[in-house]
Amino acid sequence: MAIERTFSIIKPDATARNLTGAVNAMIERAGLRIVAQKRVLISRDQAETFYAVHRQRPFFRELVEFMISGPVVVQVLEGENAIAAYRDLMGATDPAQAAPGTIRKVFAKSIGENSVHGSDAADTAGREIAQFFAGNDIVG
Ligand code: GDP
Repeated sequence: MAIERTFSIIKPDATARNLTGAVNAMIERAGLRIVAQKRVLISRDQAETFYAVHRQRPFFRELVEFMISGPVVVQVLEGENAIAAYRDLMGATDPAQAAPGTIRKVFAKSIGENSVHGSDAADTAGREIAQFFAGNDIVG
């Protein structure tokens, strides 16, 4: 099995409810290691760049407004098959469809305010990590 890194965001709905530690506990319990982490307010530009792939979707405006509405915690997670492992732990985008025990099932408020982001593939993980962290910010 390959050791990978993935990019995670604890979204504003979760930081507003003081759930950073609870989400991190689920991440660590799943065997993933938090190798970089910072709490930031992202700018509109950063949010639009980050979600550029969704620019044509009807929820794009709402998504950007949500992501800049409060602090987020950006993270790099490391572990065996970290990208797929974290997607499994997050659960489906819509919490109503998410499996029991997943972060979104436990914490998400709605399909938009769904508590966490995780990269969906190796190339996006690399790009997303580089948007927020320099190489020497990440300590495995
Ligand atoms: P993810 O990979 O599971 O995060 O899902 P997507 O890449 O499809 O969507 C990115 C993010 O856009 C989701 O995590 C949600 O925050 C948001 N989103 C997706 N679908 C909807 C929707 O139908 N309505 C709203 N308001 N937000 C959505």
